[in-house]
Amino acid sequence: MKRLFWRVLRRLRSTTVRLALSYLAVIMITSLGFSVLFYRTIMPDSPQRLMPGTPEIVRQESLNYYHYIQRRMLTRLALLNGGVLVGGSFLSVYLARRTLRPIERAMEAQSRFTSDASHELRTPLAAIKAENEVALRKSGLTLPRAKQLLQSNLEEITRLQQLSEGLLRLTSGRHDMPVQPVWLDEVGNDAMNHVIKLAQAKDIAIEDTVPHVQVLADAQTLAQSIVILLDNAIKYSPAKSTIHMQGKSSGKHILLEVRDEGIGIAASQVSHIFDRFYRADRSRTSQSVSGYGLGLSIAKQLVEQQHGQIAVVSELDAGSTFTIRLPRA
Ligand code: ADP
Repeated sequence: MKRLFWRVLRRLRSTTVRLALSYLAVIMITSLGFSVLFYRTIMPDSPQRLMPGTPEIVRQESLNYYHYIQRRMLTRLALLNGGVLVGGSFLSVYLARRTLRPIERAMEAQSRFTSDASHELRTPLAAIKAENEVALRKSGLTLPRAKQLLQSNLEEITRLQQLSEGLLRLTSGRHDMPVQPVWLDEVGNDAMNHVIKLAQAKDIAIEDTVPHVQVLADAQTLAQSIVILLDNAIKYSPAKSTIHMQGKSSGKHILLEVRDEGIGIAASQVSHIFDRFYRADRSRTSQSVSGYGLGLSIAKQLVEQQHGQIAVVSELDAGSTFTIRLPRA
């Protein structure tokens, strides 16, 4: 019994129950208010006051009848309010759950994001710490070994820097971007210039056939999203392959495509690749491909900020085509 009491008390403290109780209070106040109003409007005045000087027997009869009507009405109103209380309780719990669901989801996403981010930060930090501890413990640290250590530390710090920049980009600027007509070929070219050295290092050719058309976008933001797609295309393509960057018309929209001949993405993983921190298995096993699984979620956010959409079609071991869809200017 005592345990049940505490369980009920604990439930009462939960946000859903508290919100449901608030809803129920509003419903009951409204219902009781209407009942009082209804009673006062419908019930006639007491016959004692209405009929002074009427014979006693008639007055007594009227009074009895009046009390009968009064009891009947009060019973019905009580039943009605009892029904409202029961029905209102269910409705309140349903409404409270509905109201809180998106808030709970947002909070869950927030806490998942924080724990994922902390997890990602912990790994390089642990690596730096371990390397330095081992080096300090060893006697006679030579200059070449110290330089090697610093070099390795620097690489981890660069990765940490990239991660924190990515996190910052994801958490700031969820607002819509002001868009204006921009030349798609110029933005594409700008993006390509950012990655051309990476492509050259792998002997990858970028074939750019983006047409001279205008789209509604923010030039810098759009270029950033294309850079992410091109950067991935380079990362996940073999040396000496070709990446195609092209534009297509689709009704009132223009599609910018980045197509590669790389490793592709398994059908089961395609729906997850825009999630934060998601990395498809194949890339995770590959030691040479670095990343935190933030690029595509940033690209998606940037494209959506400009009222555009991003999508992918991919085939394992054949290549991937990422498409940015924007309104034609
Ligand atoms: P990152 O590249 O840092 O891992 P992204 O968010 O950019 O993170 O990409 C998420 C995952 O999607 C990658 O780990 C990779 O598995 C997959 N991916 C992205 N672009 C491509 C591509 N062009 N070809 C094959 N796989 C890709």
